[in-house]
Amino acid sequence: MTIFPFTEASPVQFQAPLPKTSDVVIVGGGIIGVTAALFLARRNIPVTLLEKGRIAAEQSSRNWGWIRQQGRDADELPIVIEAQRLWRQLAEECGEDIGLTQTGVTYLARTDKEMADFAKFLKVAEAHGVDTRLLDQGETAKLIPAMSRSFKGAMTTPSDMRAEPWVAVPSLARLAARQGVTIIENCAARMLDISAGRISGVWTEKGRIATSNVLVASGAWTSLFLRAHGVSIPQLSVRTTVAATAPMPEIHAGAAADERIAFRRRKDGGYTLAAGGSHLLYVGPDALRHAPKYLPALKANPFGTRYLPAAPRAYPDSWSTPRKWDADKQSPFERMRVLNPVPEPRALHAIDRGFKELFPQFEAVPLRASWAGMIDAMPDVVPVVDRAAAVPGLVIATGMSGHGFGIGPGMGRVLSDLIQGNEAGHNLHRFRLSRFSDGSRILMGPSL
Ligand SMILES: Cc1cc2nc3c(=O)[nH]c(=O)nc-3n(C[C@H](O)[C@H](O)[C@H](O)COP(=O)(O)OP(=O)(O)OC[C@H]3O[C@@H](n4cnc5c(N)ncnc54)[C@H](O)[C@@H]3O)c2cc1C
Repeated sequence: MTIFPFTEASPVQFQAPLPKTSDVVIVGGGIIGVTAALFLARRNIPVTLLEKGRIAAEQSSRNWGWIRQQGRDADELPIVIEAQRLWRQLAEECGEDIGLTQTGVTYLARTDKEMADFAKFLKVAEAHGVDTRLLDQGETAKLIPAMSRSFKGAMTTPSDMRAEPWVAVPSLARLAARQGVTIIENCAARMLDISAGRISGVWTEKGRIATSNVLVASGAWTSLFLRAHGVSIPQLSVRTTVAATAPMPEIHAGAAADERIAFRRRKDGGYTLAAGGSHLLYVGPDALRHAPKYLPALKANPFGTRYLPAAPRAYPDSWSTPRKWDADKQSPFERMRVLNPVPEPRALHAIDRGFKELFPQFEAVPLRASWAGMIDAMPDVVPVVDRAAAVPGLVIATGMSGHGFGIGPGMGRVLSDLIQGNEAGHNLHRFRLSRFSDGSRILMGPSL
């Protein structure tokens, strides 16, 4: 089986020199940082995007490629509806095929309880004019006739889309660079420079850059980076494994999942697969520190997480990862340019079994590639998108919780306005940083 296309050995594509000054500095070259930079550049705002490894080499290329409105938190839904519109527009502007296709997303149900959960989301979708609908047993079988098993029913959203993550996000970065964003790979932000109580610059491994506005969109590394500046955020990371089949006859043009297997047609004619529902948490100091905040999530899904007592060396929440460092010395971010977890054999086995159980006619189709990613998780499964009140000039966007690819361009546009001091265009109260420290009750987002 081949390994993932992005590693530290991948050629550097973006190597602009570090400017002395920039109106905005963005830390992290995933979908969130790239699209926020793009929308800022469109307003003629000088913006520098720092990426410690390669653009999109972490979550933003490793994901399943689902661009879904279906199953979203009610406060995310308007942003993802905007994102769908932006995806179409950006796909045109990229000038290369990023695999954007409207082929729908479907969740398959085996039980009445699952159908009842779907019905709850249906009300949210209807309130926002999204075309989600419920299917009965016969309609479900008709939608994906190749399935060997019959289901109680399904929820489907025909207007949902898919794209090829490891093509799309680098392509968006090239578009951003063409529109004026200074992008620098292999350039970790080590620390914020804070003078007179507000941001005055960023220390990077290539020197200092003066700025008064920083967006931290560092995915799985965000809580480590922020904690060094006294900002505590209960973001952890969990490992999930993905596999890809070789090209094969079409069984379904879109994306679908039941509780055992998730599958999505790719542009090359293969399927991207994952085993439903289970991920792995490496216990480290942050996991222990924030454990009480995760109790509601644990209660909602007691068997959804498996645990290992320690992360590999240099992972964000590894026991040996330094929590403090100096601006003029190597930081934890340079020690791990690309977080490239090993796929879990047990998960690969579950993927293989789950796919072949549902589609026994494809017994001979091999898994051609496998990889894993660290998802930046939050206790309530919705992100933080907010200004940090304690550090004027700092904006945070993290904890997309396994669904930040689809909503990415919408969040990027929102962040560009937040940074400029404009109206965000959506209610961001749900995504405020203070919800974890002001005594608010943790309100779980949907686990759909
Ligand atoms: C296996 C898997 C499947 C998923 N499936 C889907 C899906 O189907 N649909 C969906 O919508 N979402 C999905 N997601 C979630 C989605 O991929 C993420 O929510 C999204 O990519 C997050 O983007 P980001 O820009 O916030 O973070 P990332 O893509 O993780 O980018 C953060 C970047 O910051 C860089 N960085 C960190 N610290 C520093 C520093 N100090 N200096 C410089 N750079 C730094 C990192 O190297 C990294 O490249 C999935 C995720 C995974 C892992």
